[in-house]
Amino acid sequence: MADWLTGKVTQKRQWTERLFSLRFTAPINSFKAGQFVRVALEIDGEIVARPYSLVSSPADAENEIFFNIVPDGPLTPKLAELSPGDEIKVAGKPSGLLTVDQVPIARHLWMLATGTGVGPFISILKSDDVWQRFEKIVLVYSVRLSSELAYQDDLAGVNRLYRQQFSFIPLITREKQQGAINRRVTDAIVSGDLEQQAGITISADDSHVMMCGNSAMIADVMALLEGRNMQKHLRREPGHITIEKYH
Ligand SMILES: Cc1cc2nc3c(=O)[nH]c(=O)nc-3n(C[C@H](O)[C@H](O)[C@H](O)COP(=O)(O)OP(=O)(O)OC[C@H]3O[C@@H](n4cnc5c(N)ncnc54)[C@H](O)[C@@H]3O)c2cc1C
Repeated sequence: MADWLTGKVTQKRQWTERLFSLRFTAPINSFKAGQFVRVALEIDGEIVARPYSLVSSPADAENEIFFNIVPDGPLTPKLAELSPGDEIKVAGKPSGLLTVDQVPIARHLWMLATGTGVGPFISILKSDDVWQRFEKIVLVYSVRLSSELAYQDDLAGVNRLYRQQFSFIPLITREKQQGAINRRVTDAIVSGDLEQQAGITISADDSHVMMCGNSAMIADVMALLEGRNMQKHLRREPGHITIEKYH
């Protein structure tokens, strides 16, 4: 049983009908950019807890999570009802291995996210060490509709600071928009669009790929990358791919 800390919601941001960010204070342990924390509410007398990546950077005074309402899910509809001042339960110890210190030395870091899976990458991009470790960092952020592209101000800020080193490539699958690729991640890899836009290739020689979000995207991209002699990174067997599946 987790020992729950009591946190307080300080801010709620609604991006679309179903997409939300919550900021909250809670005395959680220090964490590494890319890690997640368990968040819970008491619902009908029971504690309902789920893991959420921290979007905030370890240096921030407040914590932030980014989630979408799963209509039949027990927790997310209730999380979305919270307002500033409300209490939230948070487990004290963040954890997870989607962190840059777990990545072996490589020249290029590719971050592939679907939907709310962009959260840990926002945290990583806001930290200094990732910019010392890689020559080039590419964030690929896939959503269905352009309105679902969150954190654009943060990403514009990252781009201003690291213009030479950073490429942001939005993929919008159900709408055409200038500057975005209108394909799924796998199709954009197979067609060559993704690498053309980034100006670098995804290769076992010089790339590490981090993926976060939907397990179908992760499985499909894994299969493609295995065809390029890339393999999942394990502590006992260094590889080229680090993943975190949300659902
Ligand atoms: C390590 C880890 C980190 C996670 N971090 C995040 C995060 O930062 N943001 C986030 O939104 N979710 C995240 N998730 C998923 C999250 O923990 C919950 O499962 C999700 O928010 C739904 O909660 P729920 O209680 O409403 O429904 P659940 O009972 O958890 O799920 C109900 C159904 O919805 C599916 N589902 C779960 N998540 C989603 C989703 N995002 N979109 C569509 N269907 C989904 C499940 O597979 C299940 O079939 C993470 C999961 C893991 C394992």
